[in-house]
Amino acid sequence: MVLSPSRKKTASQDAIEPAGGVYRLWGKGARGGIYNSHFVSAGVVGLLGVFGVVSWWMVAWLSVCLVVGIMLDPKPLRAKIKLKSVGSQVGLYSQVLVQAALNALPWYALAFGIYLCVAPLLARVNLGFSTFLLLYGFYMVDRVICLTLHMVRFAREERQGDEAKKGDFYQGANLKDLPTARRHVLWSFFIGNIGLAVRCSSFFLTVGLFELGRQTVISQWDSPVFTTQVTTFTWVAIGVFAAGLFFNLKSAMLIYYRTHRTFHVNPALYDSVHGVHHRGVYPTRLDSGTISPFEFFITEMAFPLGMLVPNWWWVGAQIVVAYTGHFPGHDAKKRSEMGEHHLDHHRYFNVNFGLTAAEDKKYGTMRSA
Ligand SMILES: [Zn+2]
Ligand SMILES: [Zn+2]
Repeated sequence: MVLSPSRKKTASQDAIEPAGGVYRLWGKGARGGIYNSHFVSAGVVGLLGVFGVVSWWMVAWLSVCLVVGIMLDPKPLRAKIKLKSVGSQVGLYSQVLVQAALNALPWYALAFGIYLCVAPLLARVNLGFSTFLLLYGFYMVDRVICLTLHMVRFAREERQGDEAKKGDFYQGANLKDLPTARRHVLWSFFIGNIGLAVRCSSFFLTVGLFELGRQTVISQWDSPVFTTQVTTFTWVAIGVFAAGLFFNLKSAMLIYYRTHRTFHVNPALYDSVHGVHHRGVYPTRLDSGTISPFEFFITEMAFPLGMLVPNWWWVGAQIVVAYTGHFPGHDAKKRSEMGEHHLDHHRYFNVNFGLTAAEDKKYGTMRSA
């Protein structure tokens, strides 16, 4: 489906592992199954649908996206889903999840403490909309526009029959010829819609978790500090929040780096979780969503302090982040300085695992020009 430059698919753990750069894994796991993590996620979403946590239309939409996405992938079915590998792969993924959760735990404890004190104020400044619907809606509109533009350009180039122009465009869009190009952008549209549902849920999941905890605290400990009053504690908590925000962001970047690099180092996790994202060697903007729900779940939940803000601010910040980093980092046609670091990860593979250069410099994986 895509151009595959010659490169080593995974690196040996011993060869590239300085202390702290990757999560340690016990066991090697079985290889294969590009969509294994999607398959397990579909099961989880189905269960959540049965219990009424996820609405039926969302379950239906994500199922359609998964089925169509898998059908658009020309690889044989046995390469797409390998059921006998699922058990050991979930075992390895759980190890990454637990270690990332342990890294994030102090921040969750701090964020929950702050939430207890600021909840009355937050309830007043949050606007009555679903952050999930707004963000997912934003991504869908953007992605439909992006898909349409690609299709229109393919059709125009096909009519013009300009070989040189074709080559340049398809190459820039990750693609070697017109049928491959069409199929790839359609594939990345459908597969990308799945992972993004997890990305857009992080605010709802975190604040929902905190509110559940708060209700438990209130029922155990009927203090006015944790109920409806805006007190001195509220303002102290806001001060702690402001002081901790930057450091939680740094910690989230480190969790991202470690998770991402671990997925590269372990072949079983690469095959079943992260490999799908590297189908876009010269990615298009649509490839920015082709990240496994497993991966999004860890990396999007690593910044709990960042979610202690009014929900309108959160949505606004996510949209700004999408335009300044997430989209440019996956748009080989529109090279921007900010996106260059991650684009080089797609091009050269075992370098630039971090969202920014800081972690790569620290752990020796920065690509030198
Ligand atoms: Zn990667
Ligand atoms: Zn990427």
